[in-house]
Amino acid sequence: MRYLLDAMLGNLATYLRLCGHDTLYALDRDVEADDAVLALATGEHRSLVTRDEYLATRAERSILLRERETEPQLRELAAAGVDLTPAAEPVHCGRCNGRLARVEADDSADRPEYVPDDVAPVWRCRDCGQRFWKGSHWDRMAATLSDVRESSGERAVDG
Ligand SMILES: [Zn+2]
Repeated sequence: MRYLLDAMLGNLATYLRLCGHDTLYALDRDVEADDAVLALATGEHRSLVTRDEYLATRAERSILLRERETEPQLRELAAAGVDLTPAAEPVHCGRCNGRLARVEADDSADRPEYVPDDVAPVWRCRDCGQRFWKGSHWDRMAATLSDVRESSGERAVDG
């Protein structure tokens, strides 16, 4: 799935990208006016994720969020059917949504010195150059997503 995050929802971008979803943040594209946001969502066939109820009704496809904090918002996304399972192989840069390319193990010039040897592989963004690996930051985000999926699953069983 492809998503467009409305203003104020930028925190969700890294999580959705970690799960392999092609995700744009409107403000990264300097898009803020309602009509411009809708045009971008329609033009790129993206589901609009927004807290603006009126805007949500105007979009072809949308997910309306009510919560203000990131983790409750992730639960709302899960409840709306968004798959929040971390991708085995990351595809989209968490910073800019660019495509990632795997850095070969022997390419020491492109491998940060502070990445421990046992943490492999490393990916590099083709667009912004940011490098990624499954370190502590990844683990924290994956743990949050796991909590979200579990609590969402429990709710589904209860209800
Ligand atoms: Zn990037």
